[in-house]
Amino acid sequence: MSDPISCSPLFKLSPELRIKIYSHLLTFPNPIHLRQHVRGTPHTALLRTNRQIHSEARAVLYDLNTISLSRNDFCLNTDPVLQTPVQTQHVRHLRFTSFGESLACNFLLERCAVCRDDARGLLGVLVGMPVLRSGTIDYSTQIANFMRFRQLAADEGGRSTTGGLTVTCGRVGMYRVRGAGMDQVDLTFAHRPLASMWPDLATLSRSSLSDSEEETALARLRAQDPDVPDKLWLVLWAAQHGLSAAVLGEQAAGAWVEESELASMDGEQRDAALHRFTVVLQTFLKAHTAVQCRRYLNALRESVGV
Ligand SMILES: [Zn+2]
Repeated sequence: MSDPISCSPLFKLSPELRIKIYSHLLTFPNPIHLRQHVRGTPHTALLRTNRQIHSEARAVLYDLNTISLSRNDFCLNTDPVLQTPVQTQHVRHLRFTSFGESLACNFLLERCAVCRDDARGLLGVLVGMPVLRSGTIDYSTQIANFMRFRQLAADEGGRSTTGGLTVTCGRVGMYRVRGAGMDQVDLTFAHRPLASMWPDLATLSRSSLSDSEEETALARLRAQDPDVPDKLWLVLWAAQHGLSAAVLGEQAAGAWVEESELASMDGEQRDAALHRFTVVLQTFLKAHTAVQCRRYLNALRESVGV
């Protein structure tokens, strides 16, 4: 008896057309968690239709999407049953939702190589992924961990003559990793809430908005993140009105850096300035609530009569 799936009209199409169909069905706007199916879509059932479709469609799924993973998925002390069923040899783009160690290594006194602060084991795993081209690691919930990693890389980089790891702050809240075999991979560590909100808010702060336009723009950003926009808006508003010291404190306000100043700096100065400013903003985000920042902004506005 012939296999009804092999007789499917799908196999009467050219391979190119089949790939187009898979691409249409299996492209997702956000990073995907590989499980039995991708939540919210029936289309991943396609992967379980038969062996040939699985093989063709899997390649499309991995090529066109960002795969969401964590250190838990590579941890040497974690039971594979608790790890994402990922075929790392096919992953082109990945996102780590956290820089935290695995649950097992958080519990054990001795961490595995992948979960240690220097992240050498983790970078080794990434270097070993043959088609990996880009990766983003969100460190916003493990700022201290990431800062230790950055410091260790800086110490090591200073000593090493070849293959030294460099971690460079290229934008507010965003660091790029180079060296140590990572040159084929665009690897970024990001404080995601800060890195994603800062550019939009900084642009807004430079436009002359009416009160209602300002409120509409902030409401749109609050819908994406209820916490960060009001905090950063206070910082930006204060800078526009010469009140940074009243918001950040005298010393931290000195870390403020203008785009025009950055343009005239060399790479090392730029990295140092952006890193210093990122640390100030990260500290500010942790220290205050959005409600406090809104209240303080209103008080400052009244005090200067704006
Ligand atoms: Zn581990």
